[in-house]
Parts: sequence; C-alpha cells; structure tokens
Amino acid sequence: MIAVTAATGHLGRLVVDSLLERGVAPEGIVAAVRTPAKAADLAERGVVVREADYSRPETLAPAFDGVDVLLLVSGSEVGQRVQQHANVVEAAQAAGVRHLVYTSVSQATTSTLVLAPEHKATEELIEASGLTATILRNGWYTENYLGTVEQARETGVVLGSVGDGLVASASRKDYAEAAAAVLVAADADPSLEGALHELSGDVAWDHPFLAATIGEIVGREVVYQDVTPEVHTQALLDVGLDEGTAGFVVALDAGTRAGLLGQTSGELSRLIGRPTTPLAEGLKAAVSVTS
Ligand code: NDP
Repeated sequence: MIAVTAATGHLGRLVVDSLLERGVAPEGIVAAVRTPAKAADLAERGVVVREADYSRPETLAPAFDGVDVLLLVSGSEVGQRVQQHANVVEAAQAAGVRHLVYTSVSQATTSTLVLAPEHKATEELIEASGLTATILRNGWYTENYLGTVEQARETGVVLGSVGDGLVASASRKDYAEAAAAVLVAADADPSLEGALHELSGDVAWDHPFLAATIGEIVGREVVYQDVTPEVHTQALLDVGLDEGTAGFVVALDAGTRAGLLGQTSGELSRLIGRPTTPLAEGLKAAVSVTS
C-alpha cells in the first residue's frame, strides 16, 4: 500500500492523480491528510482517506497502518517543520513502513537558501532513522510566479532583486509525476534501495525572460526591473506586506541571485520520461486554473 501525506494540497493531489493514472488501484492508496473533510472527492474515487496531522503524533501511526511506501510531502508551516517531520518519520518506523520518500529542496545540505535548514535537518533525521529512503530534492515550482503574473497584469512590471540569477523551475505536475514514479517503483520492488534525486526544470531562465513570457500571457508589454534588496524590501512594505514576509521574499530573491535555484540536472525529465513543462506552458496552465 502507498500513502501520500498532505494529499489535499496542490502537490499531494497531483501525486494521487498520477498514481491512479499509473494504474495503482484506489484502494491501494492512502490519502493521509490533516483535514479529511477536504478529501471527500478522493474518498469518492475509492482512495482510502485517513487523518494524519504532522502536529498530532497520535494520528500518524494509525494512518500508516499497513503502508509499505510512504510519501512525506514537506509541511507548509515554516518553523515547525522539523518537529512535524520527525513525528512522521517516527510513526513510519512504528508502523513498519518499508520505504520513505521525502520532498526536500535543491542542494538541501549545502544550500544557503532561507528554506534549506528545515529540509537539511529533515534529511538528517531520516538518515538517522535507518529507514530506506528516497529524497526528492524538488526545485522551484513554476506556479510560485502566479502572484507575479497578476501584479504584472496590473503594472507591466516584474520587480525583484534577483540580478542575473537563473531559475530552473518546473510545474508541480512534473514533480508529482516524479514522486509517483518513485512510489510505484518502491512499491513493486521491496529490495529497491534508497536514492537522492536533484529535481528541476530542463531550462534555466532569467527574469527578463520571465517578464517577456508573462507579457505574452497577459497581453501587454511587461519588463523586469531589478532593484537593490533595500529598495525591494521597501517596495514590498509599501504594497502592504509585513516586515517578516517582505524579508522572506527578499531573502528568496537573494538565493535566486546566488544561483541556488538555477541548477539543471536533467534528473526530473529522466524520471518522468518526458521534457519538463516549459515556463510559458506551466504559467498559462496555472493562470487558467485560477481564472
Ligand atoms: P499546499 O500549500 O498546496 O499544500 C500544503 C499541504 O500541507 C496541505 O494539504 C496542508 O493540509 C498540508 N499540511 C500543512 N500542515 C500540515 C500538518 N500539520 N499536518 C498535515 N498536513 C499539513 O502546498 P503544495 O502542495 O504546493 O506544496 C507541497 C509542499 O512543498 C509545501 O508544503 C512546501 O513544503 C513545499 N513547497 C515547495 C515549493 C517549491 O517551489 N519547491 C513552493 C511551495 C511549497 P490542509 O489541506 O489540511 O491545509
């Protein structure tokens, strides 16, 4: 049996879809979710829905009962995730899970990206657990730029402090298909060893290219305006972001500027057996879902 945590989130849902597309029987899939009410559609499709809240350890081991292969989708509550992930790993051990798959971040152990420390700590605790594990170091989602599209639609400008930094983004669906491929392989082969995959889009693009691509989508000229981190922070505060959020966004741009999101390993397209979704296609699909 294969379980997917956070299966009511964007990525988790796509992983479940991809498992079903790959022919996994719905009753062989556990959607282990914080909010079962949000998974009614999955239950209707025959998927087994169980409560699994990373912050409530008592829900976790029962959720993983009978599960052979478990996908731990990294949590979204930044700052609490190491303890939450530790709870999941501990429960996986207690439930006898055979192979754990974890969604990490690019170059987790060496990256200076503001998001990396929690992923590094999680990779370390998984390693210490002794569980057979596959680490999927997911690069940037193309969908992260949905807000940028909407701002540019209004202003004709993409404002940032990334300099010449490149981003090798891919669509969530690409990462989800890779996760499903690994889960199915681990389910089929009990002797499959753990692995580490650095996953990212095939093409690393810069922000002038992002602006031009957005321009085509919104039907107006859009330019990229690069500013210093200080000016960027002030601009974000001026449009109403709080200091913490503005600092976080500017820190992510510093990571981009440092090239932390620009690696192209080709591993993602190899795992999914096709090229990753191009930026324009991925953005258009994301915009059409929300409009
Ligand atoms: P979403 O925000 O769509 O989904 C997050 C999911 O995490 C939700 O289903 C939510 O449950 C679940 N969750 C949050 N807290 C808990 C908890 N305490 N216990 C159990 N489940 C919990 O994110 P995505 O699906 O887009 O992304 C998946 C993960 O990838 C994110 O959580 C984050 O770690 C990471 N990420 C990576 C990005 C990248 O560019 N590589 C960008 C953004 C995030 P509920 O449905 O009940 O709210």
